Amino acid sequence: MSESATGDQGGTTGGAGRAAPGPGDGTRAVRAGLPEAVKYEPTLPGPVFAAHFHLPGDPTGPYTYGRDENPTWTLLERAIGELEAPGRDDAETLVFASGMAATSAVLFSQLRAGDVCVLPSDGYQALPLVRAQLETYGIEVRTAPTGGDAQLDALDGAKLLWIETPSNPGLDVCDIRRLSEAAHARGALVAVDNTLATPLGQRPLELGADFAVASGTKQLTGHGDILLGYVVGRDPGAMAAVRRWRKIVGAIPGPMEAWLAHRSIATLQMRVDRQCATALTVAEALRARPEVSDLRYPGLPEDPSHKIAAQQMRRFGCVVSFTLPSRARADRFLEALRLVDDATSFGGVRSTAERRGRWGGDAVPEGFVRLSVGAEDPDDLVADLLRALDASTG
Ligand SMILES: *Cc1c(COP(=O)(O)O)cnc(C)c1O
Repeated sequence: MSESATGDQGGTTGGAGRAAPGPGDGTRAVRAGLPEAVKYEPTLPGPVFAAHFHLPGDPTGPYTYGRDENPTWTLLERAIGELEAPGRDDAETLVFASGMAATSAVLFSQLRAGDVCVLPSDGYQALPLVRAQLETYGIEVRTAPTGGDAQLDALDGAKLLWIETPSNPGLDVCDIRRLSEAAHARGALVAVDNTLATPLGQRPLELGADFAVASGTKQLTGHGDILLGYVVGRDPGAMAAVRRWRKIVGAIPGPMEAWLAHRSIATLQMRVDRQCATALTVAEALRARPEVSDLRYPGLPEDPSHKIAAQQMRRFGCVVSFTLPSRARADRFLEALRLVDDATSFGGVRSTAERRGRWGGDAVPEGFVRLSVGAEDPDDLVADLLRALDASTG
């Protein structure tokens, strides 16, 4: 099965390709979603800019109005579907204007007044805002932490379980298969936020989830220049409701963004393998530093997340988190970095880091730093990080 771990190398091998029959991840990424070759046509057709399409007669067919469908989305949706749910004919993919558009589409299309929803208490920072909105509609929201599968204890009577693993920014991991089985036994649907892992790191549908949801803004597209989201689901009725929600809200990606995303997916395997391998190297270098505490990276064998991560992930992500002794120390460290931009978000080819406490939403210490490892040469990056740590004393 594809969820079998490839070992502790942080995904630097092509092991993921061995785990499932058929082509390896690099091959699948470069070809994902491409149409049949047509003489004199480009390999990846350019973005189709259209608010409406020629439509004589009855309004049927795939392309009618630009808020409902667009050929550039269709190709991107195929590409994402091939990576999230390879070989599954029952899976459907929908792209959105952002990760939050995709998240809201699932939650607000599946839940109604009186329903119970279980969210992580340590997930993406917009979830508390979503929670408040759900509650105004009469939906009961329960929360529990990601680590230790604590959401299990909140499932009785639930309609939907929302999982974020690895969690952002704490990098805790929960057992998707175990939680999905428990949720399904109680009649609840399961959605997994797969943003941090990317479909090359983890495939939630194969682990039993009903929806894989993600922000394509992060590593999926990887250049820090577009916002995108997607939902992949295997229940036709549930996906029809998600599609209806996209149409009602109009949370659609522009054709240019969709095309850039598809173009970026061609390099996904190269970026993810490079960034995951460097993240492990960086984590090992930081581990040796006395001023660094609570270092977290699911790919480190001694990390509390590693055991379950190794069971269900094929690559461990590009985010490393750690705590410096004080807010001032963290600020001086970030200021001293030359190859790492002080910026939010993660997953891009250029490394970024931030003192997460500056936003106020996450329950993290003042000196907590979330580092997103980019595609720089590992030696250069490690040298920059260690130099900035030295420079931040005092
Ligand atoms: C960034 C992020 C989102 C939201 O995505 P946007 O594209 O910014 O709307 C959701 N979940 C996680 C885990 C994220 O990191």
